[in-house]
Amino acid sequence: MRVFIGGAWPYANGSLHLGHLASLLPGDILARYFRLKGEEVLYVSGSDCNGTPIAIKAKQEGVSPKTIADKYHEEFQDCFSKLGFTYDCYTRTDKNHHHETVQAIFLKLLDNGKIHKRKIEQCYCPSCDQFLPDRFVEGVCPHCGKQARGDQCDYCSNILESLELLNRTCKVCGDPR
Ligand SMILES: [Zn+2]
Ligand SMILES: [Zn+2]
Repeated sequence: MRVFIGGAWPYANGSLHLGHLASLLPGDILARYFRLKGEEVLYVSGSDCNGTPIAIKAKQEGVSPKTIADKYHEEFQDCFSKLGFTYDCYTRTDKNHHHETVQAIFLKLLDNGKIHKRKIEQCYCPSCDQFLPDRFVEGVCPHCGKQARGDQCDYCSNILESLELLNRTCKVCGDPR
């Protein structure tokens, strides 16, 4: 039997803490278990070097996203090797191989009609001169009234659209949106 285990890909925007490790550890345990049983295991993960959390951190520190991603990717690798994680491949999302693989999967899904185009409304921040991805928007959750991000409320676990939030602000500049 061939066993593929895809661990969660931590965002390279800050140091790992116990909570991250708690969610990553089960993959390593499974990989070890299946290897001991003699199965062919491919246990893969990597640092997520793209995306909003890194862009935010880079803006806050006034450096390029790559500087942030490089710093934490190296820290993660060091951390995983010291902790004895047994990844067969630990890579990063800004590698060419990763881009090519993801694009091939995306195009296959598109060709097979599994991805649909649709129009959405998004917040725009004139101060930052950009449309705001969900995670760039913060505000009050319409379900429970606690502070939430534009993609979900950590407090009540509801999945949100950023425009549903009340008292919206831009996470980058803090201006009301
Ligand atoms: Zn909520
Ligand atoms: Zn802004």
